[in-house]
Amino acid sequence: MTDDMRNRPIYLDNQATTPVDPRVLDAMLPYFQARFGNPHSQTHFYGWEAAEAVEVARGQLAEIVNASPEEIIFTSGATESNNLAIKGVARFYKDKKKHLVTCTTEHMCVLDSAFQLEKEGFEITYLPVSRDGLIDLDELRAAIRDDTVLVTIMTVQNEVGVIQPMAEIGAICHEKKVFLHSDAAQAVGKVPVDVKALNIDLLSFTGHKLYGPMGIGALYVGAKPKVRLEPLISGGGQEQGIRPGTLPAPLCVGFGEACRVAAEDMAAENKRLSALRGILFDRLRNGVPGVRLNGDLERRIPGNLNIAFDGVDGESLMAAVPEIAVSSGSACSSEDSDSSHVLSALGLTREQAHSSLRFGIGRFTTEEEIETASARIIDAVKKLRRQSGNDGAIRAAE
Ligand SMILES: *Cc1c(COP(=O)(O)O)cnc(C)c1O
Repeated sequence: MTDDMRNRPIYLDNQATTPVDPRVLDAMLPYFQARFGNPHSQTHFYGWEAAEAVEVARGQLAEIVNASPEEIIFTSGATESNNLAIKGVARFYKDKKKHLVTCTTEHMCVLDSAFQLEKEGFEITYLPVSRDGLIDLDELRAAIRDDTVLVTIMTVQNEVGVIQPMAEIGAICHEKKVFLHSDAAQAVGKVPVDVKALNIDLLSFTGHKLYGPMGIGALYVGAKPKVRLEPLISGGGQEQGIRPGTLPAPLCVGFGEACRVAAEDMAAENKRLSALRGILFDRLRNGVPGVRLNGDLERRIPGNLNIAFDGVDGESLMAAVPEIAVSSGSACSSEDSDSSHVLSALGLTREQAHSSLRFGIGRFTTEEEIETASARIIDAVKKLRRQSGNDGAIRAAE
């Protein structure tokens, strides 16, 4: 650990981004310096060397989702992958089909892509979720029409960490012969994802959510059945013409190494994260009354806990514990004070949503940090409730 990493707030926001793993950084560094070539240069050693490294990385990405290397398209991140998958497929098949199905707790980049398609004349069905954060499979089945081109449902929700039943969703889409896309930005490297077993046709993931670099993502585009899509940008034909532009070789290498490390460590790491989350949840529940979990506990990635503290304003709580880096929800919408569209979709009131915090435990979180953070939060919750005078009411309501 470098000096720069000491005396910093305890980082519990690993769903917003994750630090680059030292093994990933080591793998990347040579490609910024001696091995700096353009991977598309075909006339000399520098290009061949960078291209070879990119292809190794592509293989590592393919392996973690059980795809073939030629089914992996590099992008700038999951936002771009989601845009490319949703708009790209819809626009390619627009003469035959004009309906898509998604759900209300999707990431804003998925919902916004859907809104854009509505402006272009497509029809979208937004499936609701129940209190646990999961969609209803019968509702999905009923929503699919003859002119449905794509179903897009995220594998793991970024605010509440809930895992959708992708195998069942895949089976329904396969049976109805509709393409299935999944935003798996929070899933790849955290839970096993097998696009073949799950019948997923398109899958988005991103480097910086799995201890890789920011600015690099990927879209898996299945070859069987072959998915066609219209590119978002025009250019020199790289990435099969689907996503032209010079590939950032150092970032590709880092993303690849991040996938390799994540796959290797997944089982052991998930045990460790579950234990840490158990400690955090127990400390908070036992420390103060009125602590409620948002979303299902069992069908959830081990690194996530999203909790409503009755009668406490989340913003005030965060301000009271500056030594802990947590968030009230998605980093992308944290600039406005609107309540989370995800927590409202789960049925929380505005007030409950505003009293919720998301804890994201990660690879570098220690037990000591969890103990310190829970003690500080308990103190702050007690203090805020005393100040607002509703301490007694919450105790009585338990
Ligand atoms: C972070 C995230 C994104 C956006 O990914 P970027 O690589 O930052 O563009 C999309 N969907 C989900 C579920 C995410 O968690």
